[in-house]
Amino acid sequence: MGVSKKDLSDWDHRYVWHPFTQMKEWVEDQPIFIERGEGNYLIDTEGNRYLDGVSSLWCNVHGHRKRELDEALREQTERIAHTTMLGLSNVPATILAKQLVDLAPSPLQRVFYSDAGATAVEIALKLALQYWSLRGEEQRTRFVSLTEAYHGDTLGAVGVGYSEAFHRFYRPILRPSRQIKPPHYYRWIEGQSADQALQSSIADAEEVLEACGNVTAAIIVEPLMQGAAGMWAQPLGFLPAIQELARKHGTLLICDEVATGFGRTGEMFAVQHENIAPDLMCLGKGITGGYLPLAATLVSDEIYQQFLAPYDRFEAFFHGHTYTGNPLAAAVAVANLEVFENEAVVSRVRDRAEHLSGLLERHFAPLEHVGDIRQWGVMAGIELVRDRQRRTPYDSAERVGARVITEARRHGVMIRPLGNVLIMMPPLSITEAELALLAEVTAEAVSSITS
Ligand SMILES: *Cc1c(COP(=O)(O)O)cnc(C)c1O
Repeated sequence: MGVSKKDLSDWDHRYVWHPFTQMKEWVEDQPIFIERGEGNYLIDTEGNRYLDGVSSLWCNVHGHRKRELDEALREQTERIAHTTMLGLSNVPATILAKQLVDLAPSPLQRVFYSDAGATAVEIALKLALQYWSLRGEEQRTRFVSLTEAYHGDTLGAVGVGYSEAFHRFYRPILRPSRQIKPPHYYRWIEGQSADQALQSSIADAEEVLEACGNVTAAIIVEPLMQGAAGMWAQPLGFLPAIQELARKHGTLLICDEVATGFGRTGEMFAVQHENIAPDLMCLGKGITGGYLPLAATLVSDEIYQQFLAPYDRFEAFFHGHTYTGNPLAAAVAVANLEVFENEAVVSRVRDRAEHLSGLLERHFAPLEHVGDIRQWGVMAGIELVRDRQRRTPYDSAERVGARVITEARRHGVMIRPLGNVLIMMPPLSITEAELALLAEVTAEAVSSITS
């Protein structure tokens, strides 16, 4: 755009505030400006190419500049970029709603749009609260969630996804949820086998719901993988147990598929590995193939019906965002689903997942400072530890994860850690050769930083 790299750097340092970033540290380095993308690669203003190992923060699906998605966007631009869903409808958002309902577990029959994973979660929480109130169970105002859950950064979502490090400043006004111990045996429930950890987690959930099931509006979970906690994988058996507890205590189940949805785990939605039928399901990230901000909250017909009433009882769902159901985003989302079908993406993901699992075993398992490897589909976390035997974590001041990714970046691989957990979450379009590159470069970076 005719601005020199030097001006860009100066302006970035002077005017931009980056998310989840200690800006004092940020301004000590020159930023990398990504200018273009090509398939699974990012290209910066200097022409350097980097393999996009985290799908541009977990949302890219078919790679960058995907022809079908580019075309869908261009075509929609030639019709209209935005029009409101308040009092009007639009074509792509309507088609997309039908397609999402066709793909989702059968109780989910309605689609409420928004524009970020966090807002999809807010909407689910608000729908649950209003649903119970309309049903005359006003006492159901509490939420149950997993410890270290992450559901987004708006206040309602923070209430159910509290993390001391990120959210302590807002605690005074949060309505914290009751927490269940996740079945994460490496860190959370130490000294137990995976199966024992699963049983203790379920026992803990039973106890929590015994105590507060009758005032609980909903249980909210990230199915199969607690992503932002550091890729805490759930063993099979956990979700059905949670669903059963929700049914037993007459409460709703919200599945937050913002990270796991759209093929990531080797099914279109993670709940499909266990035939779970949530009452509400939150979608975001991959919904537009990683192109545009769009999110959706899918809702059961049972919940929807409860909101139907004469106008002047004011029982409608009074919630909306300016860009709700944005046609450009919806058109790209429809094209995204078409690619899923035309390229049999989900079955390809299963092959890639197996390949990735072999690579992790070969390149990371032997490394002295790799404590644990967790994976579902093409979504993996590699936890680095000071002492493997004792599972002693690295001190956070050592910034081991950050140093590893900086080293990997120098070798053309772009990843992002969560503390000392390295995340591998490449586009679903990644080839076997690119997966091998991702694993090899990252493993070498781990060796060189931790030795
Ligand atoms: C990323 C994420 C969110 C938040 O989505 P945003 O679009 O960043 O608001 C919510 N839940 C889960 C499980 C996520 O991974």
